[in-house]
Amino acid sequence: MAGWTSSINDAGSNPMWKSEVASFIGPLSSWSERLRPIVEKVSTGQRLSMSDGMMLYTHPNLNEVGRLSHCVRQSRFGNHAFFNSNVHVNQTNICVLACKFCAFRRSKRQDDAYALGVEEYLEDLAQYADVVDEVHSVGGLHPDWGVEHYEELFIQSRKRFPHIAIKALTAVEVKHLSHKSDISFHETLTRLKAAGLGSLPGGGAEILDDDVRKIICNGKESSQEYLDIHRTAHLIGLPTNCTMLFGTVETLEQRLNHMIRLRELNDETNGFQCFVPYPYLPDASRLPEAQLATGSEILRTIAISRLMLDSIPHIKAYRMNIGDELAELALQFGADDIDGTVQKESIMHLAGSTTPLDHDRIQLARLIKDAGCIPIQRNTTYQEFELFTPPVPKPRRRLKMAEM
Ligand code: SF4
Repeated sequence: MAGWTSSINDAGSNPMWKSEVASFIGPLSSWSERLRPIVEKVSTGQRLSMSDGMMLYTHPNLNEVGRLSHCVRQSRFGNHAFFNSNVHVNQTNICVLACKFCAFRRSKRQDDAYALGVEEYLEDLAQYADVVDEVHSVGGLHPDWGVEHYEELFIQSRKRFPHIAIKALTAVEVKHLSHKSDISFHETLTRLKAAGLGSLPGGGAEILDDDVRKIICNGKESSQEYLDIHRTAHLIGLPTNCTMLFGTVETLEQRLNHMIRLRELNDETNGFQCFVPYPYLPDASRLPEAQLATGSEILRTIAISRLMLDSIPHIKAYRMNIGDELAELALQFGADDIDGTVQKESIMHLAGSTTPLDHDRIQLARLIKDAGCIPIQRNTTYQEFELFTPPVPKPRRRLKMAEM
């Protein structure tokens, strides 16, 4: 990819952003009195505390919270908004667990249960191989698959499609494979890396609080295990993303504590590249007591993530989950990354998402430009970047209004 490059740890972020953010924030007098102590902290590169996070959650002016997070985002990335060309291939929906929020999993006996063998997986991937450079693969905890299955899958994928990076397996899948094969997390990840795994997508963090986990995903990895698995990945040179599923039964303090635990791990390892906050989608799943996040709450949570997570470079607007319209707005509320071209995806769609699956790079670039940003295509691990200039579109009828 022609363009520019970054180290895997900076992931394209301006390393001087903390000393430059004040120029984006401007005079303190332009901010409400209530928010000024936090604005001052951000402006001088200080880390926000749990009580600052609570203040941001309860501040009545959402736009002001968004404005502050946008200043931080601009000091790191300017107006660039990142995407990559990827496809999701979910290798199996058969799972030995039954997390309450999950509409995707099936038991082995259900009619629509499936498990792609290595050849079937490769055939699926082959359909998109000309247009993607990343495959994102997560799935259920298959009762018969150990680490050997995934070694074979990754070796064959890399052999057949050497240009496609493999971003695969959530922490609980890594835990499952290590149990099945009776080896440590370290050995599991080391073997998978040697077979071709390039990074972990970060799913399964839900809320890093074991009381919440007991209610929404009993039996999944503990919050400490999630952190341990990601720490191990970072230590062997596998970069990862991290996520947060919000809007189930957690409190605001638990959301903020989740962010604090992630940023503290990243202080230690510097291996998280992107944080992906996404709300629980209710349809067809089994958590009637979920509080369900509203659109404003989603934007506020994305903005607060940007402000709290000073040690994690990218904040993703996961459009497969929040929809294109909100993802576009999120680019003005602290997010700088928008999930890739994603030709095919099952998990969010079974949970009720209606975002079209057929977005290609041109449509995605249009969405980014309409948000007032510059589309930048990146590779899977944020090391290679290229300005994406879409072909001039056919003239469309557009009403005259202010452009961003
Ligand atoms: S979220 Fe993952 S581990 Fe939980 S039931 Fe669904 S597929 Fe299984």
